[in-house]
Amino acid sequence: MAQIDDLPPLRDVISRFGLDARKSLGQNFLLDLNLTSRIARAGGDLTGQTVVEVGPGPGGLTRAILAAGAARVIAIERDERCLEALAEISAHYPGRLEVTSGDALSVNVPAMLGAGETGKARIIANLPYNVATPLLVGWLRSEPWPPWWSSATLMFQREVAERICAGPGSKTYGRLGVLAGWRSEARMLFDVSRQAFVPPPNVTSTIVHLVPRAQPLACDANVLERLVASAFGQRRKMLRSSLGGFTADPAALLARAGVEPTRRAEELEVSDFVALANAAAS
Ligand code: SAM
Repeated sequence: MAQIDDLPPLRDVISRFGLDARKSLGQNFLLDLNLTSRIARAGGDLTGQTVVEVGPGPGGLTRAILAAGAARVIAIERDERCLEALAEISAHYPGRLEVTSGDALSVNVPAMLGAGETGKARIIANLPYNVATPLLVGWLRSEPWPPWWSSATLMFQREVAERICAGPGSKTYGRLGVLAGWRSEARMLFDVSRQAFVPPPNVTSTIVHLVPRAQPLACDANVLERLVASAFGQRRKMLRSSLGGFTADPAALLARAGVEPTRRAEELEVSDFVALANAAAS
């Protein structure tokens, strides 16, 4: 096991603070600091950087991020039982770790960033599976754009990672793939086996790396979202019928956007969806 700091082994931390994992909080902890260091490194050179971590838990990934040189880590944790353990890490790295107690879905992260940090913060997290998708959707829908974050290195269940990184022609292409492809370049980096977690989850996990596009095609995110939901709601049907839930006259919309009415949602590029959203808004 790697010695990345002088803090106690995570197993001891978990037993000392009674941090038995709770399913309701999506708690599957990583205790191998070699692995957490690999995840932190996947976020790039962290020297002097500001990092936002959701769900530090007992702090395995947090410690790796700090050991990798991050100047400021903002860690948002919902489980108050973890706060004492995290305070020990704070004391070990004075002035570098700020723990916010609360639900990451309602914490206003941009308001916590200084002017020099906005647009540059990295998100690195082993996300709680029960809120992973809404968190990512929120980050991808950030306004203004380019967003407050410059990259996101995130652990998802493999099946969700595949949906985020999917493109046209793939069975897993859908709402998440269109949103992620519209606003970012997303790719899968590596799998993490079930056995790496305590307790082991039911499925394999995958690290996904997202970099925001500086200039995504202009489009109203709300219109795009409704359009994509309708198109993929009946993914095997031709657009002239699957868009019936979105507009009263799908044929006219498709003609305005220059998209063949016999195509299916899963065949369209992100740019086709954007053309349709813009035609609908015009
Ligand atoms: N980072 C730790 C690790 O890698 O071992 C823990 C990861 S565990 C998969 C997810 C963590 O997110 C847990 O510590 C859990 O308490 C926390 N969590 C769950 N829901 C949350 C929420 N809505 N906001 C903030 N943290 C949350």
